Amino acid sequence: MQTLEKLQKLGMAASWDSCGGVKQKSLRKAGIPASHADFIHDCSNTNENCKLMKVLQSNSCIHDCKYCVNNSGKQKKLEFEPDELARSFTAFERAGMVQGLFLSSAVCRNVEKSTEKIVETARLLRQKYRFRGYVHLKVLPTTPKDQIFELARYANRLSLNLETTGTGFFEELGSTKDYKNDLEKRLKWIDEAKRKGKLTSFTTQLILGAAGETDLDVLKRMDSLYKDTMLHRIYFSAFKPVKGTALEKRQEEKDHRAYQLYQTDWLMKVYGFNFKEVKLGLNEEERFGNARDIKFEIALNNPNLFPVDVNNASLEELLRVPGIGPKGAEQIVKQREKKKFKEFKELKKTGVIVKRAQSFIETDRQRQARISAFL
Ligand code: SF4
Repeated sequence: MQTLEKLQKLGMAASWDSCGGVKQKSLRKAGIPASHADFIHDCSNTNENCKLMKVLQSNSCIHDCKYCVNNSGKQKKLEFEPDELARSFTAFERAGMVQGLFLSSAVCRNVEKSTEKIVETARLLRQKYRFRGYVHLKVLPTTPKDQIFELARYANRLSLNLETTGTGFFEELGSTKDYKNDLEKRLKWIDEAKRKGKLTSFTTQLILGAAGETDLDVLKRMDSLYKDTMLHRIYFSAFKPVKGTALEKRQEEKDHRAYQLYQTDWLMKVYGFNFKEVKLGLNEEERFGNARDIKFEIALNNPNLFPVDVNNASLEELLRVPGIGPKGAEQIVKQREKKKFKEFKELKKTGVIVKRAQSFIETDRQRQARISAFL
């Protein structure tokens, strides 16, 4: 099989993995042929920040994850030899079509052999083809510790997909992997590599909706991961049934759920919300339901915090107000030192969305409707 055809097929197979990239029609518009675009992902709107070639080293797997097509036996087995893949990537990179590589793999015969191939591809890229750019490598379940440290030598980022929030849910999705030993333990080793300065960053992915977890389950997992490890971020992938897999008939998850959890993630990481606060946005079924703005939901369920006096509130208090972001909060603190705010409209110059914020704040002269108006 031609290398390009293999790239196309193993690129399609890698597209289930979220690394922040989305397939971009813009690539096609830019004149990159359709046959190429399935393995090129424009990540310029994420912190991967470049056009990535996203591809699998191999698509044949010994595991039995029920949502995955790589173990179905219904597709042709394909595998890249390390130099073949490193050479192909280099050709695309030198032609200016990609700037980075995201390399994952199925576990072909055993994990050591599959990881050896990933390591060797990355080594060739760095040493033979002198590639200095971005490389994101996947840690496979059950990878030995010494190989994780080998992967870290060549990668800017490693990731290992936890897929579910805990053991019980994980067992629903397959029988050949052990959540605690094969995933959590490996994540701790990746964390160790990061703490020892051997790695720039690492991430994980959770599939939403395949195993019936609630948003509360997801929040608990996010909280423990961010507290216990140096994890850079969590990607969420709304479950979509794939034809030919054991879960092909299971209902797909709405993308909106992933969007809500990304908002929550942002509130925890950037705004400094804690677990107890974000939990306030959940409904009785421990889900965010149809909420469009999670911060707004949290504020509605936390009435004792409001109204916030913009002339005296701390930065943390300002950040709890819907319509006030980190830049707006900083500007308010800066500008009120020179002159106190009297009217809401004066807040416009700080970047605050006044219409959104006005029911949650007060100034010396002005106070809008009570929050109870929303309830
Ligand atoms: S380990 Fe990965 S490639 Fe293998 S079956 Fe599971 S999800 Fe698919």
